[in-house]
Amino acid sequence: MAFTKLGLSPEVLEGVQAMGYVEPTPIQLRAIPLILAGTDVIGSAQTGTGKTAAFALPILTKLQHHATTPRVLILEPTRELAAQVETAVRDFCRFTDLRVAVMYGGVGYGAQREALRTGVDILVATPGRLLDHLGQGTCRLDHIKYLVLDEADRMLDMGFLPDVRRIVEKCPRQRHTSLFSATIPPEIGTLINWAMHTPETIEIGARRTPAETVKHVIYPVADSQKSDLLRELLEKVHYDSVIIFCRTKHRADRIAHMLKKNNHAVAVLHSNRTQREREQALRGFRDGRFEVLVATDIAARGLDIANVSHVINYDVPQHPEDYVHRIGRTGRAEASGDAFTLMVLEDVTHVQAIERFISQKIERTKLEGFNYSYTILFDESKHGDLAARHRSIRAVRISGGYYFGPAKRRRR
Ligand code: AMP
Repeated sequence: MAFTKLGLSPEVLEGVQAMGYVEPTPIQLRAIPLILAGTDVIGSAQTGTGKTAAFALPILTKLQHHATTPRVLILEPTRELAAQVETAVRDFCRFTDLRVAVMYGGVGYGAQREALRTGVDILVATPGRLLDHLGQGTCRLDHIKYLVLDEADRMLDMGFLPDVRRIVEKCPRQRHTSLFSATIPPEIGTLINWAMHTPETIEIGARRTPAETVKHVIYPVADSQKSDLLRELLEKVHYDSVIIFCRTKHRADRIAHMLKKNNHAVAVLHSNRTQREREQALRGFRDGRFEVLVATDIAARGLDIANVSHVINYDVPQHPEDYVHRIGRTGRAEASGDAFTLMVLEDVTHVQAIERFISQKIERTKLEGFNYSYTILFDESKHGDLAARHRSIRAVRISGGYYFGPAKRRRR
């Protein structure tokens, strides 16, 4: 099925063609007709499935021409996602007279106020900054016809749901609402019941399995050798660009510092960095000035960074869906990619949760030539339930005894 058969306006189609899209993705095939028909849509879908175009193209078709007040509001959890979606929408509507603006915190109000004053049709915003504008009276939502709640589960994780509710309350009841979320936890279910009108659910890309184009493996390693292994992996593997995920901002900074000292061109992306620093990091990574991007999950969620050849999980993600999400940064749009996860003993439970989530055992491997110290992880198959073993080890440590193995062998 071609885009031309979906009922999009000629101007929007021109925009799609200029983007080089040939065929609609599954979510676009299903969502576009529904949104054009005025049905509220729940997209159980992640970034990387083409969901931005799935909601933007029919909405732009419906808007037709520029008017003075915002008629579309797209809420995003992070500044980077807001900026990315704004760019995409701007590209889609470049052959129309529609105007797009983006509002997020960490930057001045001047340009955003000016955009609102001169008239925008489509607002892409993060909740906090939008509420600021609403409070200051620089923005009104009483003409919103299309509301898009994107990455709703991330908004929940980040504590934005009360803000989202306040914003939805300021939109007219007579409107079309779309909501996208990789998972639908109960809080999102409540939001759906409250904010949406007989919605249709499209379940695409709530991908529990990583893309087939991604080869992903686990490198078991002793905790003390993690950074050495990372350094050596970067030396031995032929990569074009690599994203390294860390659990905390502090760890991200530490790893970035270490790699810089090893002469890698490194950018860092986490929420303690200023907006300017984050933009510079992303731009530099996208245009190839930095070969390595060290990031935390929140900063990197959903970012559309093309041509990443490798993803390295320096830390195992705490939430199984983040694993799929992280390694989805590589192997995008038919390109193939590799994803490596460093696993230490305390990660065993999380790795098991990931393997349950994706319904597959991830291959364990070793880096040839690396001078490994022994860890019990190398004998994983021999030792049965390593997670239980690790729990008992921790119990011994916490109770202050010596550790010579599992609890029952503890010496006094
Ligand atoms: P999204 O899930 O909206 O973040 O999109 C992921 C990536 O797929 C972006 O780089 C889009 O530009 C690209 N994309 C979206 N729809 C299509 C399509 N129909 N054909 C080719 N690429 C697409």
